[in-house]
Amino acid sequence: MVNVDLTPEEERVILRRGTEPPFTGRYCDHFGEGSYSCRRCGARLYESTSKFRSGCGWPAFDDSIPGSVSRRPDPDGVRTEIVCASCGAHLGHVFEGEGFTETDTRHCVNSVSLVFDPAPATGGGGAAPDAGVRAIFAGGCFWGMQQHFRSHPGVIRTTVGYTGGVEPGPSYELVRSGTTDYAEAIEVVFDPAVTSFTDLARLFFEIHDPTQEDGQGPDRGRQYRSAVFYADESQRLEAERLVGILRGRGYRVVTEIVPAGRFWPAEEYHQDYYMKTGGMSFCHVRRDRFGDQAGGRR
Ligand SMILES: [Zn+2]
Repeated sequence: MVNVDLTPEEERVILRRGTEPPFTGRYCDHFGEGSYSCRRCGARLYESTSKFRSGCGWPAFDDSIPGSVSRRPDPDGVRTEIVCASCGAHLGHVFEGEGFTETDTRHCVNSVSLVFDPAPATGGGGAAPDAGVRAIFAGGCFWGMQQHFRSHPGVIRTTVGYTGGVEPGPSYELVRSGTTDYAEAIEVVFDPAVTSFTDLARLFFEIHDPTQEDGQGPDRGRQYRSAVFYADESQRLEAERLVGILRGRGYRVVTEIVPAGRFWPAEEYHQDYYMKTGGMSFCHVRRDRFGDQAGGRR
């Protein structure tokens, strides 16, 4: 159903192919989990998983929901216009060959053409059986952390990002400045039938130095601190148990164990960095610190 109740600015963009000024749209720096629908008719257009930071000043998606977005030559004779396939609302333009992500495609969309619908919250009764369980760790440069976690059996996906701070929408530059409470961190979603929080926390404690305060190797600053951001009481207890074992073995562990807050995915070029560049992590090498005392599943 077409929504005729548009503001003058929405009419200018959606009906008359206007463009909102760059870096002003409400979804430009918005990275919530959910989907984006057409402001005019409500058709679902983009999943938040296809949104990435292009730095161009408008929301950028590297793919659309199949069949939801149509392309046509722009009247300017150069660009390709994208419109809602259901109602023809102007969305923006699509560009290819820029090399931002694997799809090599950038849907450059006006925020006013979109409405964000957050994903339904999980929790309470627990996540759906196939949704996996989440664990978040900080232990220095996130590129090296991801290299170890992404190949661990039972890991469904890994995302590097920022957590522990306050200001919404942190960027790499801001976090690197060391002026915020954000830490470089990794979010690991895993299948509890294959691996466990204990396995992953044990891996975490063995691929970074949990005794180094506010830094890892040459990377210094609170953004490189060691921390476990626990999702629930069982994760907290398990993290504390492992720290207790390490302390018993003589390690002066400084790892913070704090409740998980919002996790902000990092810019796309940081994701799977070593896989993309063919490099190797020298900052994160696994060392046996538990002997066989930690338990857990392998
Ligand atoms: Zn529409």
